[in-house]
Amino acid sequence: MSLETAKRYDVAVIGAGMAGMAAALFAAERGLSCIQIGSGGGILFASGLLDLLAVHPTQEYRLWQSPFTALAALAREQSEHPLARVDAASVRTAFQTFVAALTSAGMPYAPLGERNSHVITSIGTVKTSFGVPLSMVAGVAALERRLPCLLVDFRGLREFSARQIVETLANEWPALRHQRIDFPGFEAVSEVYAAHLARALENRETCERTIALIKPLLGDARVVGLPALLGLSRSSEVHAAFELGLGVSVFEIPTMPTSVPGLRLLGALEAAVCARGVTRRQLCSVRALTFEDSTAMLALEGATGGERIKARAIVLATGRFSGRGLTADQTSVHESLLGLPVQQPASREGWHERDFLAPAGHAINRAGLRTDDAWRPLDASGRPAWKNLFAIGSILADQDWMREKCGSGLAIATAWAAVDVIARSGATRQSMQSEVMDRHASLAMTKVTR
Ligand SMILES: Cc1cc2nc3c(=O)[nH]c(=O)nc-3n(C[C@H](O)[C@H](O)[C@H](O)COP(=O)(O)OP(=O)(O)OC[C@H]3O[C@@H](n4cnc5c(N)ncnc54)[C@H](O)[C@@H]3O)c2cc1C
Repeated sequence: MSLETAKRYDVAVIGAGMAGMAAALFAAERGLSCIQIGSGGGILFASGLLDLLAVHPTQEYRLWQSPFTALAALAREQSEHPLARVDAASVRTAFQTFVAALTSAGMPYAPLGERNSHVITSIGTVKTSFGVPLSMVAGVAALERRLPCLLVDFRGLREFSARQIVETLANEWPALRHQRIDFPGFEAVSEVYAAHLARALENRETCERTIALIKPLLGDARVVGLPALLGLSRSSEVHAAFELGLGVSVFEIPTMPTSVPGLRLLGALEAAVCARGVTRRQLCSVRALTFEDSTAMLALEGATGGERIKARAIVLATGRFSGRGLTADQTSVHESLLGLPVQQPASREGWHERDFLAPAGHAINRAGLRTDDAWRPLDASGRPAWKNLFAIGSILADQDWMREKCGSGLAIATAWAAVDVIARSGATRQSMQSEVMDRHASLAMTKVTR
């Protein structure tokens, strides 16, 4: 394509982490034509659990049974927090829509209620989360009721030890046992990986042989827990086969990154956005971004070399340091693409507490972009930098998603809220036929150093 041609969209989403995926999904569901640029982000490392808000305030490490009660407390006590700025009804609808899309794309979730669930992790700790994949749900009930339970792991799988989980939980869950087996076909291999085993279990014979190895070990177990590797793209089938073959409930336990549920989540989100007509540029990044009146122009670099895009609205979902949305040098933190002002401590000395495990966390983790009520990042004067630029997800200031256990919540809720503003602002599919070429697009691109 010539450098002087540009495809037009209602919305261009920059970033394909949880926030970018949610924004692309919601934009398509609202009838907006949408292009999404970027690769997988932190999703690959995610556990599959969709945290909404579990901890507030961080310095007290107060855990909440109801994420919605937690959100109300957050709104009262920390009104600048991005999650405090999305109303509860929108958060509910956003999660319902997101989970419904995942379920229809082959990654089913348990129905969402009003409460957080408790899920055991691969090191035997208990994680408080909101959205639980169906494959993990039986573990929530087993833990709550301390049911007789067998945990099984595989020789050579270094990222998961059933024995460690049992030893950690022994006092509070006496009816928890563990067994280790060889994975069929991998007996001679000293080290095995979850993703390989997950793929192997999609083979019916391997699946049946694995079940046959576990069945004699059941004893009085009413439920069986396994590392999260029951299939990749056909995980529902594999999970069902295990439950049928063993005759008891079966649940998965999230493993260390890169996790199989993370791979499934990414696959399901990609399928969901593609099914809704989102155009994707996975192997590209946005090199430069300029604005003229009500149109933004993006220059891409990567696989499609030199492509240009026009959009009525830009959603910046480029993440923090690992996503490369923010970068830091010796003195300060910068926003990578447009050089937007970053809310941050006055000097580097203020970035970290002396105590690495300081309960309140470190100020650097709350650095990020401040926005107006319509999710538009602010310039140095405190006004929206551009009327059609929106920022969502972990790049936003005044949150610490890891400590607050609100990663997906932050991504999904802010994506919903920003897309709602864009949809209401009148961008129409008709005005932005994605295949329409504008042969006169010759805006001078602002080269941005990334
Ligand atoms: C180890 C780990 C464990 C996690 N566990 C959980 C969990 O248990 N529960 C939970 O809810 N969530 C979990 N998460 C996920 C977490 O919710 C999200 O990763 C987090 O919310 C950040 O999402 P994000 O989309 O804002 O940013 P990121 O995931 O960082 O995505 C940023 C995206 O922007 C892209 N990008 C940056 N610059 C450009 C550019 N110029 N052009 C194009 N693209 C660009 C990047 O390539 C990337 O795709 C986990 C994440 C990690 C890393």
